[in-house]
Amino acid sequence: MKKHNFYAGPSILPDYTVEETAKAIQDFNGLGISLMCVSHRSKDFDAVMNKTVDLFKEVLDIPQGYSVIFLGGGASLQFAMVPMNLLRNKAFYLNTGTWAAKAAKEAKLFGNVDDTTASSKEKNYTYIPKGYTIPTDADYMHITTNNTIYGTELLTDIDSPIPVVADMSSDIFSRPLDVSKYGIIYGGAQKNLSCAGVTFVIVKDDLLGKVDRAIPTMLNYKTHIDKNSMFNTPPVVPIFAAMKTLEWLKQNGGVKQMEKFAIEKSTKLYDEIDRNKLFKGTVEVDSRSRMSVCFVMNEEYKDLEGKFNDFVASKNMVGLKGHRSVGGFRASLYNALPMESVDLLVAAMKEFEKQN
Ligand SMILES: *Cc1c(COP(=O)(O)O)cnc(C)c1O
Repeated sequence: MKKHNFYAGPSILPDYTVEETAKAIQDFNGLGISLMCVSHRSKDFDAVMNKTVDLFKEVLDIPQGYSVIFLGGGASLQFAMVPMNLLRNKAFYLNTGTWAAKAAKEAKLFGNVDDTTASSKEKNYTYIPKGYTIPTDADYMHITTNNTIYGTELLTDIDSPIPVVADMSSDIFSRPLDVSKYGIIYGGAQKNLSCAGVTFVIVKDDLLGKVDRAIPTMLNYKTHIDKNSMFNTPPVVPIFAAMKTLEWLKQNGGVKQMEKFAIEKSTKLYDEIDRNKLFKGTVEVDSRSRMSVCFVMNEEYKDLEGKFNDFVASKNMVGLKGHRSVGGFRASLYNALPMESVDLLVAAMKEFEKQN
């Protein structure tokens, strides 16, 4: 029985991605060998790498002057690679949650970091800070566009006098972007693109080569740009799966359509959270995420939480338990999640309200 998958990550991917990758793991391109066992230097895999980069650039409409690379280490390694490659004196970090704070912590190893001017930490990260001034003496500004744990999202591209570096792990490909407003965009693939094991990085080429420190070869963006992500053995299977998701995105109307769909799905769920007497949202309305919808039981119904978890499980829904730092529930509405799953969750909330 197929489940309705609300996991935060790794998480739901298109059936097309899973099926095509499974086929290639059995027999890649009819070569008589598995995708898992093919040389990354083979002609067939080289074509996969090139196509993945090309589709990535096409789907996000990435302008000239930017490179797309695929690395290991997850988004978490980017927390260190970004400052190592860009930070000379000072960096400005928007402190909007656990991931943002982890990124700032790594940057502090390399220079001065301002992560207090724009922070929502004092209110348990329930909103995206506004009205702050971006310091023009900082080398870059770092943002986390979707705060996967707290359920807030920055839905516009920032006009900044300094380069913007964005962790887009959990909302990449969910809306059109003006990539020209960014210096670097990175993310772990395991939320909206592929299985775990690969990290995408979009780098504006002319930002590099300005720091004095020695950078280890594997941690230098330039190494991977120059070798088309093949300096060492890349994560072959996750890159193939990413290519399939990009094909699926293209076939399904691209990021414009994904944005429309994300608005429809999240609006439906937030409307029910706001209407239902049992539940309430956890973040300020104008900071609500379309990808990570966090909600809790109202105070007087708190003891029903476990019961609701069992109730949704009995209806074949998985992954709805909230992150331990917020509690309650979190529905991750990634691109591949069908409307049918949202409808089922909304119906379950209504039914549970009637019963209680
Ligand atoms: C999941 C997540 C991460 C961590 O990604 P890893 O690939 O596990 O290192 C970082 N940032 C955000 C916004 C995330 O959602």
